[in-house]
Amino acid sequence: CYCAKYSGIVEDCCCDYETVDGLNEEVLHPSLQELVRTAFFRYFKVKLWCDCPFWPDDGMCRLRDCSVCECPDNEFPEAFKKPHYGLSQDDPICQEGKPQATVDRTIDSKAFRGWVETDNPWTTDDETDNTEMTYVNLQLNPERYTGYTGPSARRIWDAVYSENCPKHPSEESCQEEKIFYKLISGLHSSISIHIAADYLLDEARNLWGQNVSLMYDRVLRYPDRVGNLYFTFLFVLRAVTKAADYLEHAEYDTGNLMEDLKTQSSMRQLLFNPKLQAACPIPFDEAKLWKGQHGPDLKQKIQQQFRNISAMMDCVGCEKCRLWGKLQVLGLGTAMKILFSVDGPEQLGQTLQFQRNEVIALMNLLNRLSESVKCVREMGPSVEKIMEGQ
Ligand code: FAD
Repeated sequence: CYCAKYSGIVEDCCCDYETVDGLNEEVLHPSLQELVRTAFFRYFKVKLWCDCPFWPDDGMCRLRDCSVCECPDNEFPEAFKKPHYGLSQDDPICQEGKPQATVDRTIDSKAFRGWVETDNPWTTDDETDNTEMTYVNLQLNPERYTGYTGPSARRIWDAVYSENCPKHPSEESCQEEKIFYKLISGLHSSISIHIAADYLLDEARNLWGQNVSLMYDRVLRYPDRVGNLYFTFLFVLRAVTKAADYLEHAEYDTGNLMEDLKTQSSMRQLLFNPKLQAACPIPFDEAKLWKGQHGPDLKQKIQQQFRNISAMMDCVGCEKCRLWGKLQVLGLGTAMKILFSVDGPEQLGQTLQFQRNEVIALMNLLNRLSESVKCVREMGPSVEKIMEGQ
């Protein structure tokens, strides 16, 4: 029985696997799916081209399924330039024969009023560098298999683990370091699950589907990787619930009244759901961290390591992977900013401010993790049966 394999409390968290699965199925996944489709949450501002601070580009960007199309402004369809924000997926799309990718540079001055520009000490991403940034419609650029593999991808993961986040935290390593490792590993599991769940099975027929052996080989056969995925999900969920009052009152105005009402209602459904509050009110307890004499130094060290990982996303040699890598690392950085900057939720609104992009990244990250948890729950038992029967 699968639930026997993953039962009990998720390590270092305050909820058990079954509760997480139930809440995800009933509450979190449906609300998040609605939320990330709204005009506010589907556009992410990002600098996409390679300017890797660590090593020169290795030319991997040419892979077909890696590309996020950036069109010259004069190629944008007129509909994109009109002051309406609810782009439908049927709109004609400026593309190199690849309709699932598009970048909209035009919405910045029209939409998203009422947000501040502020720093995130956990990441190197800066939303204010307007000349080099574009908007990407995330719904049209799904995270999935791109063909990005080999030494370039391996070099990034190796650097992430070996230099910045030790892969096998030693017995003496402290709680904070273990948690940092688990967050990265959980994110890695989620990326692998998305690759396996939406895989190019047959290039000639452009046939996409699930790659069960890949899902097994990369994630399911390692219970710790599955556990780390659940851990990361609960960590980010805790950040979102801690910031509930801030998120409820944030400015989601994009000029499209119907869409904006939908955003607010999905957000409230998610944040103040009685089932969530009853079953798992505090998914992770951050109050126990950074205690003791070395707490502040340790926090600074881990913060710097996470900033390195954030900068490393510019070295990902595949545009679409870089897009999702940057978004999810910014989302994780935002979760850490929420959890590790102030003690209680009541202080949060008074002392912390967020960039719009941070909130977009945070909620899209939570949605990605929720999708991965759902996928593991639904596919895990049958994938294991197939693979272990072979
Ligand atoms: P990798 O996934 O590259 O793993 C490398 C090594 O890390 C493994 O051998 C293992 O020792 C260890 N490891 C693996 N998983 C875990 C875990 N959960 N916890 C701890 N250790 C682990 N490819 C796409 O097709 N689409 C994408 O959207 C995409 N996004 C990416 C984003 C980033 C930031 C990066 C760095 C890469 C991305 N890739 C993407 C590439 C993808 O992650 C793999 O690197 C690639 O598919 C090659 O896989 P692999 O089998 O060599 O193992």
